[in-house]
Amino acid sequence: MDNNKRKELIVSAIRNGTVIDHIPSEKSFQVIKILNLETSTNKIYFGTGLESKKFGKKGIIKISGKYFKDEEISKIALVAPSATLIEISDYEVTKKGKVNLPESVERIVKCFNPKCVTNIQDITTKFKVIEDHNGEMKLACHYCEKTMKKENIEFL
Ligand SMILES: [Zn+2]
Repeated sequence: MDNNKRKELIVSAIRNGTVIDHIPSEKSFQVIKILNLETSTNKIYFGTGLESKKFGKKGIIKISGKYFKDEEISKIALVAPSATLIEISDYEVTKKGKVNLPESVERIVKCFNPKCVTNIQDITTKFKVIEDHNGEMKLACHYCEKTMKKENIEFL
């Protein structure tokens, strides 16, 4: 079987829904967690530690009957910026693209600064997505102005 056919098969295993591909293997379980897929009643196919030419080891999640909202896609992008999102409708790919890091995130992330007003009062969190001089993605809190490294990100 040639590679293209094989790829098609992997993608077309669900009739309607979404495939999240090219997740770094070590992030696979985190992606499941942030999307609350553990409690989902949808059919879910999940693989991790799969060979990928581009990414070394990758994870893939296929969720039947589910299309993600922008907010959920932002979460995926924060955890796994290399991920590809493929939407399937009636076994056909209707949309395919890399998840894009948003310019800002609201509501979905908790500020790591315990003194931040968002942790004291009932205020919606808001962060700017920035890059430091090493090209590392960080989140800058709109309220306390502290910047948070990727590994400190905690989802609400
Ligand atoms: Zn803050």
